[in-house]
Amino acid sequence: MKITQDLHMHTHLSSCAKPEATLEAYIRQAAELGLDTLGIADHLWDDKIPLGDEDYWRPFYSPQNLSHVLKAREEIKSVDAKGLRILFGAEAEYDPVRCDIALSDEAGEILDFVLIPNSHTHMMMPKSLYEPYQAHADFMVKATHEILKSARAKYITALAHPFDAVACPYDKSLLYPLISRSEYEDIFLEAKEKSIAIEINTSPFLNKTDEEIKRNPKWQFFAIAKECGCRFTFGSDCHHPASQRNILAARAIAEVLSLTDNDILVL
Ligand SMILES: [Zn+2]
Ligand SMILES: [Zn+2]
Repeated sequence: MKITQDLHMHTHLSSCAKPEATLEAYIRQAAELGLDTLGIADHLWDDKIPLGDEDYWRPFYSPQNLSHVLKAREEIKSVDAKGLRILFGAEAEYDPVRCDIALSDEAGEILDFVLIPNSHTHMMMPKSLYEPYQAHADFMVKATHEILKSARAKYITALAHPFDAVACPYDKSLLYPLISRSEYEDIFLEAKEKSIAIEINTSPFLNKTDEEIKRNPKWQFFAIAKECGCRFTFGSDCHHPASQRNILAARAIAEVLSLTDNDILVL
């Protein structure tokens, strides 16, 4: 099975990405990585949704609105795409104040695809919930239910890096077993019903061996997602051209999860 779509790539428009993260640089390396489709998913807080004045995320998201993210569509006009398909989506956000996703219908209609993370807990979760670890896990479970129940869930293509707490101050894999099998099943069955895919984020696996990749404990809950009938997307979550090649981990992951072409959502 070949993975030909990288559906989670940040350009320099994301404030956490490097200036070298240009469409040109990504296009240059795509053929070597076996890709025919690049999915641009810069960070987005849709400005139709009140940003609130939470210190945690306001400074990060306030410049990253819809018109900002859409600049990539202008940039491609002066770039040779070398026959590649470039999709312009976004990594939008879960809003814990409104208990909903920070996405309007207008943005959902314009974007080629939408990723929503349940795990940007370094920004979206009160710091007091880091401990006990169970509170952190519970926050992500609650967030996921609210994401899936959103009136705009129909625009969500995939759950980005599910349950993989970003910038966690302790080993984030300790959180995986704090979510029960039935909690995972409830979530993945609902995602399947709503045709929302589960992203397999390859960013932790740059330059890792197949054995190291296969040993990761997260495949246990990805296996539950597969049993529930979910489909998967792959994303490098690159923020720099040098990390684009982590998508090569997809082959080992597909093997450990016994994925076939039918398990992959192709846009
Ligand atoms: Zn993310
Ligand atoms: Zn990302």
